[in-house]
Amino acid sequence: MADKRDYYEVLGVERTASQDEIKKAYRRLARKYHPDVNPGDPSAEKKFKEINEAYEVLSDSQKKAQYDQFGHAAFDPSAFGGGAGPDFGGFGDFGGFGDIFDMFFGGTGRQRPRGPERGADLRYDLEISLEEAAAGLEKDVNVQREELCDVCGGSGAAPGSKPDTCSMCHGSGQVRQERATPFGRMVNVTTCPKCHGRGQVISRPCSTCGGSGRVMRPRRIHLKVPAGVDTGARLRLAGEGEAGRRGGPPGDLYVFISVRPHKVFNRQGDDLLAEVKLSMVQAALGAEIDIPTLEGKAKLTIPEGTQTGTHFRLRGKGMPRLRGYGRGDLHIRVVVETPTRLSERQRELLRQFDQAGSARAENKGSAQPEEKGFFRKMRDALGR
Ligand SMILES: [Zn+2]
Ligand SMILES: [Zn+2]
Repeated sequence: MADKRDYYEVLGVERTASQDEIKKAYRRLARKYHPDVNPGDPSAEKKFKEINEAYEVLSDSQKKAQYDQFGHAAFDPSAFGGGAGPDFGGFGDFGGFGDIFDMFFGGTGRQRPRGPERGADLRYDLEISLEEAAAGLEKDVNVQREELCDVCGGSGAAPGSKPDTCSMCHGSGQVRQERATPFGRMVNVTTCPKCHGRGQVISRPCSTCGGSGRVMRPRRIHLKVPAGVDTGARLRLAGEGEAGRRGGPPGDLYVFISVRPHKVFNRQGDDLLAEVKLSMVQAALGAEIDIPTLEGKAKLTIPEGTQTGTHFRLRGKGMPRLRGYGRGDLHIRVVVETPTRLSERQRELLRQFDQAGSARAENKGSAQPEEKGFFRKMRDALGR
C-alpha cells in the first residue's frame, strides 16, 4: 500500500474539490487513458485502473470520508485485522463503467428489454366506377388482418394459465456475461436466448393462436369515399391496421383508390371529355342533339355550319372538386360523319348540291337559299 498514490493526486483535484469537480476530472482522465483509446499500452491500462479506483472512493461520500480519515489503510483488509474494511473488490463493479460506455458509445452500449411496437400498416386496393367517383360512396369491405387473440387476450397463454417469468433472465429479457480482462471484468449484455427478449415463457400455449397471441381475422370495414376522388387517391383509416406488439398501438389502414376508365367520358382532372357524332346535315343546318352527362342525357344546340372537331363547353357538368367547391366542366367534341351507302336519289341530290356549290364559287357569291333547301331535302332523304 505504500506505493499507492494519493487518490486526490491521481485525479488531480484539491482535497476540497466538490463532487462535480471530481466527476469532471475523472471523466477527462478516463477518456484520455481508456484502453480503447490506447490499445496495447500497459501504462495507460494501469493509469486507467488507478483513476477508476480513485473515483470509486472519492465519488462515494461514505468511502470518501473513510479515506479522508484513514487514507489507503481504510480499504486495506490487513490494516483492520482482516476483512473489517468496506467491501471493495477490484473495480469491476464500479459505477463509472456505465459512464464510460455512455461517454464512448452515446449510451447505446446497453440493451433494454424490447418495448411496445406499433402494428403494421395495411393496404387495401379499391376500384370504383367514374359515376361512384363523381357521387362519392360508402362501402363495407373485407380486410384480412392480424389481431390480438381474444381467447387469451394476446398473452399467448391458455385460458386459466399465465405466462411464466423466464427462468434464464428472470424477466429482464437479457443475459449478462462477465469475463476477465487485464483492467477488470467486462460485462457483455445480450438478448436472452430462452425467451428471445420477451422476459416470459409460455408453458401452456393458447390453442386458438398457438401461443403467438395473434390471429388472422377477416374484418368488415366501413369506407367513406368522398366525391371527386381520382386514381391515386389514398384514404387513411387510423388504427385499422394490424394489432401492435407488447401493448403497442395498432397500425393504419390505407385504401388506394383507382377509378375504372369510362366508355363515354375521358377524365382530365376535374373536367370530362366526350365525343358526339353529328350527321353532315346536322352540322350544316344546326340541330338540337342529345349529349351524355354524368346525370344522364341532356340537350345541346349545335349552330349551323359546325365543323368537325369543334368543342362545346358545358360549365359545371364535370367532376366534383375534391378540394374546394363546385365542379369541373364537360367538353363535348363533335365529329361530323360522312354518309355511306347512299341511295340513288341521295347521290343525285349531292351531285346537284356540288354543282350549285361550284357555280357559287365561280360567282364568288355566298350560300344561296336553294342550298339550304337542298340540305332539308337531304335530311329528309337520310331520315334524320
Ligand atoms: Zn390465444
Ligand atoms: Zn429470458
